[in-house]
Amino acid sequence: MTDVKALSLFSGGLDSILASRLVAAQGVKVQALKFVSPFFNYDILEDVQGYQETVKSKYGIDVMVHDITTSYLKILHSPVHGFGKNFNPCVDCKILMLRTAKAMMTDLGCSFLITGEVLGQRPMSQRRDTLNIIERDSDNRSILLRPLCAKLLKETDAEKEGLIDREKLLNFSGRGRSSQIALAKEFGITDFPSPAGGCILADPILSKRVEVLFSDDFVIHSKDITTNDILFLLVGRQFMLPLGGWLILGRNEKDNEKIARLAGENDILFDMEERPGPTAVLRNGAILYDNQDDMEMEVAAAAGLVVRYGKKVKAGPKGCRVEVVVAGKEKGVFAEPLNDDIFREWMLFL
Ligand code: SF4
Repeated sequence: MTDVKALSLFSGGLDSILASRLVAAQGVKVQALKFVSPFFNYDILEDVQGYQETVKSKYGIDVMVHDITTSYLKILHSPVHGFGKNFNPCVDCKILMLRTAKAMMTDLGCSFLITGEVLGQRPMSQRRDTLNIIERDSDNRSILLRPLCAKLLKETDAEKEGLIDREKLLNFSGRGRSSQIALAKEFGITDFPSPAGGCILADPILSKRVEVLFSDDFVIHSKDITTNDILFLLVGRQFMLPLGGWLILGRNEKDNEKIARLAGENDILFDMEERPGPTAVLRNGAILYDNQDDMEMEVAAAAGLVVRYGKKVKAGPKGCRVEVVVAGKEKGVFAEPLNDDIFREWMLFL
């Protein structure tokens, strides 16, 4: 092992594992860096240490975790290089990650950056011209090494300065996975995630939800969107009430717990104690309405939805008391289940 240290952008997919291991195999100390945001891998933040231990024991890689949400939300408004097939700003996303990594390099004592990119593997972000743009716009020309396809690219500083032996780097290209799988076998790696990724922005259905949130006609102005807005958006049933309230309703126990955990002081929280049913939140309901009457109308509609999606009782009244918490104060509201014809148009995503 030399004193040379490299910082590896670690998606957790096979390519980034192999790129890290390939460089480490030359005696370079590799520090992997895992970015998280509500769009990808946010659950890691619930147990960072557990994640680090898993990566170390499975792949022999030291990984650190960095939440990139604040900068990420800014690029989603209007990515310079546009979106992919869905609401995925892949080129800008990579540029942001590389810029952030570069800014961390000195403190971490690293001499160069590594990614697991493979030339021609992805239509948008891994074409030769796009790789060049990413390098240029992230201000990483010459310090960014892509070990899996380095022999097909220009020599980087690390190679020129002899920190790493170019001859031992690779020339992978294209969409096939057989070379990667063979290399994984050489490293004794058998358990690795599928290439599908896990980024919500590349998911055709979930990315639509995010797109709606970032559109100009959504109740929250796109510049005010917070991490919790995104986390709310990805959970349960979603409704836009007639006076503009954004209601999120849990579908199951897990959703209910999440909604209760995410709710902030300006949110209005709904729950039923008398029978099983959804927890719901009227996002920013305590500060959203111009007057008390409007707020009470929306609270009544929300309570009707909570009862509608609650457990049905065969005999006995259909209506039920719903506990409503506004600004820390709890009160009971009696509501009948709302008729489907009334709220069908309020549903945001079917
Ligand atoms: S799929 Fe998601 S995480 Fe990956 S580059 Fe694209 S936007 Fe970034």
